[in-house]
Amino acid sequence: MPIRKIAEKSKVAEEIKEIVRRRIKVESQEELARLVLKRLKKEDKRYVLSPIRAKRIALTIPEIEVKAKTKKALRLPKIEKCPVCEDQIKPVKVRNLLNRDITVGYRCTSCGYESDLEAFMPMRYIFILKKT
Ligand SMILES: [Zn+2]
Repeated sequence: MPIRKIAEKSKVAEEIKEIVRRRIKVESQEELARLVLKRLKKEDKRYVLSPIRAKRIALTIPEIEVKAKTKKALRLPKIEKCPVCEDQIKPVKVRNLLNRDITVGYRCTSCGYESDLEAFMPMRYIFILKKT
């Protein structure tokens, strides 16, 4: 069994930026992860990347807008405290197709805990290059 290799966050972010810059738009997190992995594997075939991790990293890139492909407002269970360290937890928001901010997950700034909407319902995302 080959040992899996997890790419550093900064490395994945660089690849995501390059891909979205070139394509302007990527239609799903699965597609994004596939495209990033294709580039990473040229360097080392052991690299792995999950679609959820690709999306989480894309959310931290200022040049990229992540949009939820839904019109509905989503009812995500409200979390007040981090379930791991009990510190304050922040909602992760993206815009939906109606340009309304919706919460798609939570992130703890103390311990790094993250939760995604995928745990509650399947969600499709789109990744777009921000106009500057
Ligand atoms: Zn925490």
